[in-house]
Amino acid sequence: MSNGLSVHTLLNALQSVLPPEHSFLPLHEPRLNGNEWTYVKECLDTGWVSSVGKFVDRFEEELAAYTGVKRAVAVVNGTAALHVCLLLAGVKAGDEILMPALTFIATANAISYCGAIPHFIDSEESTLGVDPFKLNRYLEEIAELRAGGCFNRLTGHRIKAIVPMHTFGHPVDLDPLVNICRRFDITLIEDAAESLGSFYKGRHTGQWGLLSALSFNGNKTITTGGGGAILTNDEDLGLLAKHITTTAKTPHRWKFNHDMIGYNYRMPNINAALGCAQLEQLPDFLTAKRDLAERYRKAFTEIPGISFFSEPANSQSNYWLNALLLDEGHAGRRDAFLEATNNAGIMTRPVWSLMNKLPMFTDCPKMDLSVAESLERRLINIPSSAILGRGMANA
Ligand SMILES: *Cc1c(COP(=O)(O)O)cnc(C)c1O
Repeated sequence: MSNGLSVHTLLNALQSVLPPEHSFLPLHEPRLNGNEWTYVKECLDTGWVSSVGKFVDRFEEELAAYTGVKRAVAVVNGTAALHVCLLLAGVKAGDEILMPALTFIATANAISYCGAIPHFIDSEESTLGVDPFKLNRYLEEIAELRAGGCFNRLTGHRIKAIVPMHTFGHPVDLDPLVNICRRFDITLIEDAAESLGSFYKGRHTGQWGLLSALSFNGNKTITTGGGGAILTNDEDLGLLAKHITTTAKTPHRWKFNHDMIGYNYRMPNINAALGCAQLEQLPDFLTAKRDLAERYRKAFTEIPGISFFSEPANSQSNYWLNALLLDEGHAGRRDAFLEATNNAGIMTRPVWSLMNKLPMFTDCPKMDLSVAESLERRLINIPSSAILGRGMANA
């Protein structure tokens, strides 16, 4: 094409950053070269593989220290973490929960588990996350403060909470969002599943929500095989999170007493052993991932028609998944790019389908989603594993 953006140009730019000889490069592969083997062997040797053991406590303490919250509770996956965050925030059946249309399905699923209704809001291009200013205008139109909280005047449902998501590890603009939550009496819960190692104004993501959720799925920045965590600065909610995710059993040497409906969501010790080993390497993963992002950024600066997505102002991102954004005029060529890169052994993917387009959510309330719709057409994720960053390859 005359403006220079061809499949060939795109492939060249990617190949200038990626290793010269490679088999298929996935989007994000785990790296397990630390103490994983030692710690898992310890679980096997001692028989402490399941629901209790020292690695769970250690993992929770180290996560809380790293993310700067008072309490972290390790659970089976990020979706379960979100589910419990919503329950403990007091979300009830019939409540509307604000969430970005542009997110992974887990956010909407967790809301549905509570019998609540996802209410889809738009994103902004500078963060890829919810747009606080557009949201503010929207709430001024549709929201009404009554005795029981914030209500949607159009549907009559209570708007109980908002679940922003830090897309690909890039923090949303939290300060204005916190103000909106105060003004409209809406509880903030962060879906920080993708943002372990990402900071907003110097503080770790997950500190702003009453409760927040992390994920340690196999493709996330660190992995426990499968896993997640609930973060909170509220000591009582922290204790309750531990209680409700461990079948709500009251402590006794032999009696089975349960004082509420609980969940078997605890993270097994063998998974926490992986988590402890992975956390030790997190600083190195982050350095490598930021190095990779910087090299992608340079490789794409001169190319018209496409840009590498860089961390928003005021933020330090973990660059969990790197993203390219086509200009609107080139959006129609996205699938040709996906085809060519995957054929060349470089895994690329479009972003998730917007939640409001999925059959189970088509009737949910939503605002104008024009920015999310545009991002959905133009976004391409590219390989992002820590091993592709400098300093990791020979470690
Ligand atoms: C990964 C992820 C989750 C949690 O997923 P699990 O696979 O259940 O750990 C939640 N929200 C988002 C946005 C995610 O990317």
